[in-house]
Amino acid sequence: MGDKQIDLSKIDRDDLKLLISKSDINNKVKNISRELTKKFKDKNPIVICVLNGAFIFFADLVRNLDFDFEIDFIKLSSYGSKMKSSGTVRMIKDISADVTNRDVIIVEDIIDTGLTINYLRKRMLDAGVNSISFATCLLKKRKTYKFDFKIDYIGFKIPDRFVIGYGLDLDQRFRGLDSIYTLK
Ligand code: IMP
Repeated sequence: MGDKQIDLSKIDRDDLKLLISKSDINNKVKNISRELTKKFKDKNPIVICVLNGAFIFFADLVRNLDFDFEIDFIKLSSYGSKMKSSGTVRMIKDISADVTNRDVIIVEDIIDTGLTINYLRKRMLDAGVNSISFATCLLKKRKTYKFDFKIDYIGFKIPDRFVIGYGLDLDQRFRGLDSIYTLK
């Protein structure tokens, strides 16, 4: 969907349709945290939040982790204020931790084309991490992705539609909704 014809500021809550409920998200977050706890107990990994969209998923996830870990943040932009990937990833804020020889877990809100996680993977490999794992709340179902490695932890596979809520925005709005919605 292009946003040339749509005035995004006119979209309000009545235009949203529930896709994934708060309780389904909570259950899934707990499952992923349990899996991470099994794998990373005793490894003291660095859990990296990809801003802005992943901040709520990240906060829910880390509160359920039953092991020692550090956190850090990276801010990237591939969407701008539009509803489609711009095709290029821009680094807006880099991590500050030294990730060399560390196990890192990258926490993403949603994977669409895969450009963002490709960029992140390269950034981590260049820094000489010991291991890199990806956790994403959502993965859009696509025929072609721009990455060919495994996403270790996936909350939900969803149709190739624009979604908002639970940290995800539409032109910077709706991030605070506790469920995930599509546009009607
Ligand atoms: P990718 O680089 O194409 O995989 O896009 C990843 C980034 O684009 C995500 O981290 C989001 O910030 C944004 N994004 C992708 N799809 C959506 C969507 O449906 N709603 C809101 N943001 C999205």
